[in-house]
Amino acid sequence: MSESTSKIRLLPEDLINKIAAGEVVERPASVVKELLENAIDAGATEITVIVKDGGRSLMQVVDNGSGMSRADAQSAFQRHATSKIFTQDDLEAIHTLGFRGEALASIASVSQVVLKTMERDATEATIIEFEGGTLTDLRIGASTPGTSLAVKNLFFNTPGRRKFIKSATTEYRQILATVNRFAVGYPAIQLTFIHNDEVIFDMPIAASLEERVVTLYGSRMRDALLPIHDKGPACEVSGVVGKQSTVRQQRGEQFLFLNSRYIADRSLNHAIVSAYGEVLAHGGFPFYAVFLQVDPTRVDVNVHPSKMEVKFADDRLIYAILRNTVRQTINSAAVIPIESNLIRAVPIMPWTAAPEIPNEAGPTPPSSLPAPFMPEFRAKHPGRQLGFELSRAQSKPPEIGPMELLEPKPEHTVERANVWQIHNRYILSQIPSGLVIIDQ
Ligand code: ADP
Ligand code: MG
Repeated sequence: MSESTSKIRLLPEDLINKIAAGEVVERPASVVKELLENAIDAGATEITVIVKDGGRSLMQVVDNGSGMSRADAQSAFQRHATSKIFTQDDLEAIHTLGFRGEALASIASVSQVVLKTMERDATEATIIEFEGGTLTDLRIGASTPGTSLAVKNLFFNTPGRRKFIKSATTEYRQILATVNRFAVGYPAIQLTFIHNDEVIFDMPIAASLEERVVTLYGSRMRDALLPIHDKGPACEVSGVVGKQSTVRQQRGEQFLFLNSRYIADRSLNHAIVSAYGEVLAHGGFPFYAVFLQVDPTRVDVNVHPSKMEVKFADDRLIYAILRNTVRQTINSAAVIPIESNLIRAVPIMPWTAAPEIPNEAGPTPPSSLPAPFMPEFRAKHPGRQLGFELSRAQSKPPEIGPMELLEPKPEHTVERANVWQIHNRYILSQIPSGLVIIDQ
């Protein structure tokens, strides 16, 4: 065999980072997700997310976490530089949201980055600027403890990728969905989200998951959530599942967390939804925020670029535990006494799945709009405009009065004094405090 010159070469570092960015930074929302994860891993209790033009021109996350020393601030942008794992044992038992040490190097290689960071006991902050992965400035400045990381002009140096960024509206929706996941997943963190200089939401630390969900989604969630809890050898399940009134025709209000990490797991989401059984006979998607705690050595979170999909050692067992827990909760809530507020009673009527009922604080947005609509936030802060797409949401809700909805269709109704039977299944009866619905 003749010896020939080698065709294979090692790629230069900046190109390696850009290739890695192809996996880590799929779109602007992926940057927001990585920055939020870093803030949470740094122990932040207050986080502000500032976005402009759907993330196309700016994404900035400001936190009050641990901050970084000057040396760490510089190393943070090197590929495979992390403070979160050091050994293989660490990799097999991940306790943090990040662990690969890739995000900052990848993000910095395809954008302009300004990092300002200060440790809690330090007297001055470090400010570092990168452009397309190259360090352009390193200086000392004044700041408060914590970290601010601003990412500007994503993909400015990779025009091929910039083309794939969608409209500001579409990217904004993705970012909002991402921030919502953190808002639901971390009720104990104060979270503010600003888009194009408008405060989209400003959520104080919540005393409970229920409180956070009501702040985020409005009063339609009040009294609409059922707490779940179970603890077995394979996992601990907690959180809340929505009653029938939370069922919507579109997805988007389903949250599943594994060890505090939002995950997309078709099988486990199926476990939850299928547990609703007949409650979802007419289709739709209920609200839920379910938290699984699993021994980190029994789960592999290193199987997907965005760490959104994971592998469980005990997947069948966890499926069964999750389904049973939700099922028991849904079943035990099958008889739901309702206060004499007719509007509240409406959503659990089996024949009213489609129309939305306006709640006390404002009109319900068309279901195509991104959650949250935050009627209560709007009521408390009338002067503060929501984002441009949200303010367009103030279109009128369907013109259906509550009485109209309450009128059962005659063919479904057998009337006996003050008791009605519907669909051969539900019994409605008047009680002194209002109405009772019994699922036979
Ligand atoms: P990873 O999160 O996987 O470790 P990153 O590239 O996201 O990798 O971050 C690299 C390192 O920079 C982190 O391990 C952490 O030490 C530091 N870091 C990043 N963001 C922050 C932050 N907001 N506060 C404190 N330290 C941070
Ligand atoms: Mg990270």
